Amino acid sequence: MFKLKKHYIMAPGPTPVPVDVLLAGAKETIHHRTPQFLEIMEKTLDEARYLFQTSNRVYVFVSSGTGAMEAAVTNLLNPGEKAIVVVAGKFGERWKEICEAYGINVVEIALEWGEAVTPEQIEKAMREHPDAKVIFTTHSETSTGTVIDLQAIAQLTKDTDKVLVTDEISGLLAEPLKMDEWGVDVVVAGSQKGIMMPPGLAFITLSKKAWELVEKNKCPKYYFDLKYYEENYPDNPWTPAVNMIYMLNQSVKMLKEEGIENVWERHRILGEATRNAVKALGLELFSKRPGNVCTAVKVPAGLEAKKITKIMRDKYGVTIAGGQGKISNSIFRIAHLGYVSLFDTIAAISALEFTLHELGYPVKFGEGVKAAMETFHREGVAG
Ligand SMILES: *Cc1c(COP(=O)(O)O)cnc(C)c1O
Repeated sequence: MFKLKKHYIMAPGPTPVPVDVLLAGAKETIHHRTPQFLEIMEKTLDEARYLFQTSNRVYVFVSSGTGAMEAAVTNLLNPGEKAIVVVAGKFGERWKEICEAYGINVVEIALEWGEAVTPEQIEKAMREHPDAKVIFTTHSETSTGTVIDLQAIAQLTKDTDKVLVTDEISGLLAEPLKMDEWGVDVVVAGSQKGIMMPPGLAFITLSKKAWELVEKNKCPKYYFDLKYYEENYPDNPWTPAVNMIYMLNQSVKMLKEEGIENVWERHRILGEATRNAVKALGLELFSKRPGNVCTAVKVPAGLEAKKITKIMRDKYGVTIAGGQGKISNSIFRIAHLGYVSLFDTIAAISALEFTLHELGYPVKFGEGVKAAMETFHREGVAG
């Protein structure tokens, strides 16, 4: 292998950051309580609504995505109140753990990892637990590479008093989301995934229906109390991550220029190419309903996820992800999330072919790459 190595982050977060976004942050840090900064903050948050397809305000936290998940729980529910939580992977588990940490009464829709919750399962839980006020879902369950039919679920909650919360930390921009049109009530997101920024910011946006719960809420909290964020908007109640707001401004600008439909379509096509490539190599997908954030692949018999990811990273500079939690060694995940283009995907697939070959798995070089290239051609984006 060459000594010179280029790095490809093909993991579902953090994702690659465009140089223009990095450079946008390389500017003088100005004081946050100045009209100059507030103007940037206001404009940026205003424009960021486009990413969520909402006219609601977007609030930004200095935290990782999990902070926004915690904010959703502690601002919507009081200890002892009931919530329906979909658990079909690591991140659904996180909703449950946060709820339990605050004494919320959890009604769990427990699924096999890799399955996608159906609208019927949500409907049944709503019928059996009419006192559950909030439903927590994960649009893209990153740990299993699964996407749920969020639009159909929103259809069920839209005209009721139930508040539908979705974890869009990986899903945002990779999976179509029209918050207002679909009637989704609360969306949480993070900077280090589809938004093409480094880790460090989390986002939350809420419908009017959700705000009614926030207004009445008595759950103990401080840093993530949304009422402070609303009272101070667009200013932040605490010190905002000034330079990251510059970066956000740039990434939102780039995403707007690309156009959200094109961003969704790019992720769909990259996902399709990756799925076709691994299938052409004789590998099997893990998810029952694969999404466009990352492709979860079953580790072939006799191989180990850890070995595959290590060779990919250390020898070829391609960082993919293994599994998480109870499936940590039985799958690996190739992301196609954020600032990723067709040649990044082709590079990742070819590195996978080299790696599998080295580990003794029968590979005919180019078979996966061929399937990816043919997908790009068929989809009309190349050749
Ligand atoms: C990455 C991710 C998270 C966790 O976000 P952090 O930024 O690590 O706190 C939560 N949910 C989903 C679906 C994710 O992909």
